[in-house]
Amino acid sequence: ESPYVALSSSDSSGNVWELESDDCISYFIKKKLRVWCRQPRGQWELGVIQSASGEEASVSLTNGNVMTVDRSEILPANPDVLEGVDDLVKLGYLNEPSVLHNLKLRYSQGMIYSKAGPILIALNPFKDLQMYGNDYVSACRQRSVDSPHVCAVADAAYNKMMRDEVNQSIIISGESGSGKTETAKIALQYLAALGGGGNCAIENEFLQINRILEAFGNAKTSRNNNSSRFGKLIEIHFGCMGKICGAKIQTLLLEKSRVVQVASEKLNLRAVNEYKYLVQSDCMSIDGVDDSKNFHQLMEALDAVRICKEERELIFKLLAAILWLGNISFQVGRGDHIEVVDDEAVTSAAQLMGCSTQELVTALCSNKIQADEDTITKNLTLRQAIERRDAIATFVYANLFDWLLDQVNNSLEMGKKCTGKSISILDLYGFQTFQKNGFEQFYINYANERIQQHFNRHLFKLEQEDYELDGVDWTKVDFEDNQGCLDLFEKKPVGLLSLLDEESNLPKASDLTFATKLKHHLDPNPCFRGERGRAFRVCHYAGEVLYDTNDFLEKNRDTMSSDSIQFLSSCNCELLQLFSKMFNQSQQQSVATKFKVQLFKLIHQLEGTTPHFIRCIMPNTKHLPGIYDEGLVLQQLRCCGVLEVVRLSRAGYPTRMTHQEFSRRYGFMLSEANELHDPLSISVAVLQKFNIPSEMYHLGITKLYLRAGQIEALENKRKQI
Ligand code: ATP
Ligand code: MG
Repeated sequence: ESPYVALSSSDSSGNVWELESDDCISYFIKKKLRVWCRQPRGQWELGVIQSASGEEASVSLTNGNVMTVDRSEILPANPDVLEGVDDLVKLGYLNEPSVLHNLKLRYSQGMIYSKAGPILIALNPFKDLQMYGNDYVSACRQRSVDSPHVCAVADAAYNKMMRDEVNQSIIISGESGSGKTETAKIALQYLAALGGGGNCAIENEFLQINRILEAFGNAKTSRNNNSSRFGKLIEIHFGCMGKICGAKIQTLLLEKSRVVQVASEKLNLRAVNEYKYLVQSDCMSIDGVDDSKNFHQLMEALDAVRICKEERELIFKLLAAILWLGNISFQVGRGDHIEVVDDEAVTSAAQLMGCSTQELVTALCSNKIQADEDTITKNLTLRQAIERRDAIATFVYANLFDWLLDQVNNSLEMGKKCTGKSISILDLYGFQTFQKNGFEQFYINYANERIQQHFNRHLFKLEQEDYELDGVDWTKVDFEDNQGCLDLFEKKPVGLLSLLDEESNLPKASDLTFATKLKHHLDPNPCFRGERGRAFRVCHYAGEVLYDTNDFLEKNRDTMSSDSIQFLSSCNCELLQLFSKMFNQSQQQSVATKFKVQLFKLIHQLEGTTPHFIRCIMPNTKHLPGIYDEGLVLQQLRCCGVLEVVRLSRAGYPTRMTHQEFSRRYGFMLSEANELHDPLSISVAVLQKFNIPSEMYHLGITKLYLRAGQIEALENKRKQI
């Protein structure tokens, strides 16, 4: 049973999920208990079974219809008392329709947060719910609210850090547009209020920093008007007394290709539609977004992190230069030589970058080749020249982003020495699957595979510790690891990443030869399937994804020629000189390798913390409040592993009761004649009397551990008496 199969429709095969036996069906009919009945279009409706014969049953739905369906299309629904429980673990029946229904009911009542055991589930409300104000924060701090909330998670992390003196992490994941960044901001704001000691300056500083990061690192996409195009980890340091003494931000792989792909008079700026890099996006304004107000806020924010006026000018000069670079066009001149069209674009770009027009033209159109003692100049082809122009633009932008981050981090050090512990908040791009998936989805999904393993191991560890404490043989808990898929990516020399790097280094390689190579080396791997042409499939924990190797090699190489670096270092611009210097220091690595190194560092850092997981869910793709698209939610619950947690608990012993509790509840069902008194003996007698098979329970030292479904069976017996 692969994790993927387990998450798909065949998930409903355990006792808790299905109405297995005839006895069970008759019981539901007799007691008129509610069931979920799958409709022809896949959605689930509530109803009551009227009759059953053979494999079929007739169900009367709440909407008045009566339908005859296969028994496999019916699942038990939870009783009324369990409507809208705040923790999915409290649901007696943990099947998909029950989970979906529960979240929907809560969402419709404005309760966007629920727990799924150790995870907080956050549904994007797409409206201001007024639940993050100061009143709420203080209520949360005084523990006078008892419902699931981001602030409660942050609060728990803070308390655990103070009590156990262990670093904590809040790991937020979810699809694009699901609310990760907003959730991270709420957690950050809460921690700032908690650790700021009544000083609003820290809260304000965090706010300003988010502004800068979002201004330079976010973009409008089809899924989210303010989509983060980078992952980030914010580490907040606390002193021994629990006061914030500093913070540090790390970012993970900015999607810089977007700069050239879609993407003040001194600066020679024109209207937005005159820049080709910007026009491609076909989107010049967003409803409800005031660009000029945002610009002024950004200036304030830059000021707050002590980026001085001169530096700010430099930043905007480079941004303008990037825009002008995008407008530079080429033509084929005499003797097939490529030439830059001599217009305002090239002169403005050169002026802003601090070089002569001729120097820029040479950098864009030719290559210097060292042959023996001589340097030969070779002309580039049209395609190469365009690639070079775009490579310079992206390089400058990505370095500008990193430089800004350095400035932000310098200002966050706050000049104090930190001796205490920290809480890290991770806002990472979630698992993605589209019709066509490219290089970006490839590394994003790889990262999610790693995070998922971190998550699985943590949960498993929690379970294990509990079992071990009570003498339970936990090896019986079968645990599905995603190590197989990670190996597919990471194995050397024949994993996806190694093969990609190997092929990227071959001059004659193409996306097609890469795809062929993958098929040749990986095909019998259960997590991999070669497809026709340039495509291949990976079986991720969250489902199968079809990748198209188009542009994989180019994007992975991410080449920046030494000529271009030399050119940038010769420009009369402090920042460009700095960027070219930094480039020389680090040798050029492929994107995949760089990403893997960053990811390992991140995971290593997280491993030293106690994690708190938040899974954000996008309830509809229209970005509107009040709409709950069941199919969409279900797909995300599967992707982010919520159902996996449920499955994990099914694999173990989800019910745990002390012998006292158990004997008190079920002891009366034994015949009057018995003379047992101690709870343990009573428990054993109950288990024997009702023929609970020995592999379905474990007698711990203090508790009785029951496998899924057993407690429901006993409850049913109890009601019958
Ligand atoms: P991406 O992966 O694209 O960066 P994301 O998961 O970070 O997406 P956000 O940018 O946090 O998504 O949220 C998208 C939008 O949803 C926000 O701009 C905001 O309008 C709305 N939103 C998210 N969370 C909340 C919330 N708790 N309250 C109100 N609105 C919210
Ligand atoms: Mg985001």
